[in-house]
Amino acid sequence: MNTLLLIILIIIVLEYILELILDGLNLKARKQPIPEMLSDVYPPDRYKLQQDYEVETTQFSYLQSTLSLVAIVLVLYFGLFGLLHEWIASFSFNKILTTLAFFAIIGFIGWLTSIPFSIWGTFVIEEKYGFNKTTPRLFVLDSIKSLLISFTVGGGLLAIITWIFYATQQWFWVIALGVMLVFSLLANALYSRVIVPLFNKQKPLEEGELLNAIKEFGDTVGFPVNKVFVIDGSKRSTKANAYFTGFGRNRRVVLYDTLIEKMRNDEIVAVLAHEIGHYRKHHIWINFGLGALQSAIILYLFGWLAQSAELSYALGFESASEPVFHLSLLAFGLLFSPIETILGLFTNGLSRKMEFQADAYAADNGLGNSLIQGLKKLSSENLSNLTPHPVYVFVNYSHPTLLQRIERIVAKHFC
Ligand SMILES: [Zn+2]
Repeated sequence: MNTLLLIILIIIVLEYILELILDGLNLKARKQPIPEMLSDVYPPDRYKLQQDYEVETTQFSYLQSTLSLVAIVLVLYFGLFGLLHEWIASFSFNKILTTLAFFAIIGFIGWLTSIPFSIWGTFVIEEKYGFNKTTPRLFVLDSIKSLLISFTVGGGLLAIITWIFYATQQWFWVIALGVMLVFSLLANALYSRVIVPLFNKQKPLEEGELLNAIKEFGDTVGFPVNKVFVIDGSKRSTKANAYFTGFGRNRRVVLYDTLIEKMRNDEIVAVLAHEIGHYRKHHIWINFGLGALQSAIILYLFGWLAQSAELSYALGFESASEPVFHLSLLAFGLLFSPIETILGLFTNGLSRKMEFQADAYAADNGLGNSLIQGLKKLSSENLSNLTPHPVYVFVNYSHPTLLQRIERIVAKHFC
């Protein structure tokens, strides 16, 4: 067996073990007593429900990762990616079509095999804990739409990148980076007007107390909030959320109808203030810049490694004499995942820091108490974990824990 393949297999198994350990630690940590400051988040009955939910979702993710581990190891061991490539190549399409066909087949199989898990997650687990509102008809429509979007949007981007790869060896990473940045800016600008309407209805928030409170807050902090939209999240789940999207003139505030239903007006304004805090502290551009830097590193390394046929050989294309883009890309993705995990530690750490800053912005503007109440309510409604394990938080959490956030707000603003 070739060394590169062996390294890939070791990486996959080690990552699986790491995930098992972290999940195990987190499950144990759930039995800790509830911190004093969070004693009013859950009524006792509901906390019992939260604990069961935690166990059930973790066990379900064990099952999923174990099955996908077995599947990927078998596929790699038997060189099935290489065989798939040889079969597609026998049709003698041009190189770009060959790559598109390769990823279309893998993507379709991935989509198909994920459906049973999706059904179980939605109609058994989420249903049991009272979150699910998705009807079978909506589920089918959603699945088909997602597949079509990834085929058209993902396929289009992939075709361009593949073309660049074969056309420009040396400057591949620079040009590909430029294309990806333009693409992500475009995607961001068009997201709420093109993608969201395929799945949800968005209506402007009706005139009334809430809209007035939001506008009034925006005016006092000099951040005019003109477009507030309500999205019908309730057609899929009772879970609540709110977000900001777009840049400049395209930016809009989106509130889930489930959020409006469950939270008081001052709590919603506080959640919004937190989001404005992200804008004010330029977090959107910092994230964009870091993402660009990360893409630059990845593309540079890929462009360099993919010059050789070794990567294609590792995936089972044994007669590889020159690099095959899609096999190299796949092998590179697998080899790169430990570095990605390490980069993830940095980005998650930074993201948690930014969340503290956004909370501080809301609190500085007199909404600390409302934010705390709002966060507590959201945690209870979404059955969030109150006592995650610190190592699990360090690796996986993009937000600080509820306790950390409340402690920080209280320490800074109420003493
Ligand atoms: Zn945030």
